[in-house]
Amino acid sequence: MIKDGCAHVKPAAATDLSVFLLVTWSLWWQTGHEDHVGPDPPRSESNCLLRVQEVGKIRGVFVLVDEGSPLPNRVLVSLAAFFLRTWGDSDLRVLRLCSLYPSAVIFSAGKALHRGALGWKAEWLFSIIRLLRLSPALDGLEVSVALKQGQVTPTELCQRCLSLIKKTKFLNAYITVSEEVALKQAEEAEKRYKKGRSLGDLDGIPIAVKDNFSTSGIETTCASNMLKGYVPPYNATVVQKLLDQGALLMGKTNLDEFAMGSGSTDGIFGPVKNPWSYSKQYREKRKQNSHSENEDSNWLITGGSSGGSAAAVSAFTCFAALGSDTGGSTRNPAAHCGVVGLKPSYGLVSRHGLIPLVNSMDVPGILTRCVDDAATVLGILAGHDPKDSTTIQDPVKPFTLPSLTDVSKLCIGIPKEYLTPELSSEVHSLWSKAANLFESEGAKVIEVSLPHTSYSIVCYHVLCTSEVASNMARFDGLEYGHRCDSSVSTEAMYAATRREGFNDVVRGRILSGNFFLLKENYENYFVKAQKVRRLIANDFVNVFNSGVDVLLTPTTLSEAVPYTEFIKEDNRTRSAQDDIFTQAVNMAGLPAVSVPMALSTQGLPIGLQFIGRAFCDQQLLTVAKWFEKQVQFPVIQLQELMDDCSSVFENEKLASVSLK
Ligand code: GLN
Repeated sequence: MIKDGCAHVKPAAATDLSVFLLVTWSLWWQTGHEDHVGPDPPRSESNCLLRVQEVGKIRGVFVLVDEGSPLPNRVLVSLAAFFLRTWGDSDLRVLRLCSLYPSAVIFSAGKALHRGALGWKAEWLFSIIRLLRLSPALDGLEVSVALKQGQVTPTELCQRCLSLIKKTKFLNAYITVSEEVALKQAEEAEKRYKKGRSLGDLDGIPIAVKDNFSTSGIETTCASNMLKGYVPPYNATVVQKLLDQGALLMGKTNLDEFAMGSGSTDGIFGPVKNPWSYSKQYREKRKQNSHSENEDSNWLITGGSSGGSAAAVSAFTCFAALGSDTGGSTRNPAAHCGVVGLKPSYGLVSRHGLIPLVNSMDVPGILTRCVDDAATVLGILAGHDPKDSTTIQDPVKPFTLPSLTDVSKLCIGIPKEYLTPELSSEVHSLWSKAANLFESEGAKVIEVSLPHTSYSIVCYHVLCTSEVASNMARFDGLEYGHRCDSSVSTEAMYAATRREGFNDVVRGRILSGNFFLLKENYENYFVKAQKVRRLIANDFVNVFNSGVDVLLTPTTLSEAVPYTEFIKEDNRTRSAQDDIFTQAVNMAGLPAVSVPMALSTQGLPIGLQFIGRAFCDQQLLTVAKWFEKQVQFPVIQLQELMDDCSSVFENEKLASVSLK
């Protein structure tokens, strides 16, 4: 029993609890309900009462507070966390679920309760619970349970995400919103659920796809004039696999042109804005630090190049999104947007239909709000594809991650070369904290060396541009997308098409690549770079052969920077800085995942990266899940954004993300 004037609960009743409700005592008193757990609280003693509702399996914590409650949200959330630790399931996903409800939603609920307090009925309570469960703030797995239990329909979920996409249009996360397709898919999913024949965990779940994956009948632009208007006749294998599982395709997300970049600022549709720029957490810190600049001109980049996908997941417009990762493009924006970003082992997931950047390094990436969801999506995507000869031959079994992991037998490697002078002191200290966390749980944490790390960026430059030069040859104005008007000669048509179709970054890389591939340069640049690549890959092999299970590194040098700051440097310089911890992994084809750890003093997300042995993606995700559980990264609080920015989106008021 918790005595400190806040709550009363019978622990014995809590093993199969579904929902804990914390409501203000005064409010609860007015409802006249008899069935609360524990003795009636004396009026003078407390202002809160813990209520236990049994609605199916364990679900999470809802903190409903009336407007007049003197308890700050922080206290309520830690109370809820305490209840869960004491009586809840050991799986912290439950706890996550609690924190996944933005406080603004919680407080909106409080207001609704308060207004209705006099005419309070039990059914109200249940309908509020039901509505709260509709929140796209749920993680994918939780929502799939809600779908199966009929607490939410695929169409409701789809409409909610579509409405959020509209409200957050100014983030520029989507290039194409496939509303009609998604609603149609939702309708079909609904029929399946009604017949009790759902296709699996992703049936009826909204997802988004980076706009460099081919989608049948849906424009696929790579954020380039070259492919504007191009509608592929087929789906990328990964897209098809998601659709076969019943996922709802909400749209195609924004990126740097042809995925060349690290900010999602260099595409023809303009830059993507980081949802955290508008979060309560960041805004409050800015106020404290008395920044007087215009808020909206100071928005932050998402990182890239899969920034649209990261923003889409972070702003609750979908539950999972596909990115691509050639040098860090999934992990980097994941770290900046406070979501999980997984780069699977090269060859585990098909690249068929992913418009290539660097074929020997590209991997479809997965962005989700929790590690479990990334594992679910990976389980669906992984496996041999006859259309991609680089995929593994062996069958891959879908897997679920254990709730409890014993990390005491693990050996965690800390690569000493990753401690660079440019690393921000905050990221450095979180990195050390994370290492200590593993050590305190009995894991062996050792310093390791990856001696060729410093050559990785320059080596990448040679290999990337060489493959780009070869890859981009297909865009000649004949087969795909853009063709210029010139009819002087075929050569003139090629040249003008490519000049008009590609931006400076792409053209620059094609030129560099062709230079490295010239007969007289080939040995000195391309072949040499291939040799260096082998050395870099061998560094990892040696470390893993020495007994290290997983490497722990920063994902980025610092938290996301304002757009105005970011564009002071060119694309190449930025990539060289931003890919510093992520890029070598692509050279070696290893799996790696960025997991959000904490907020910086500015109130912005910082993620850390785990790197695993080739094809040990499951082990990697198990460690990542354990870590995620320990750190309890806070949920983004976007309610203020929705309200404050209402004028930006046609004066539309978003009363609440989930209550309508
Ligand atoms: N920043 C790197 C580049 O521009 C990596 C991009 C990516 O991973 N797609 O090439």
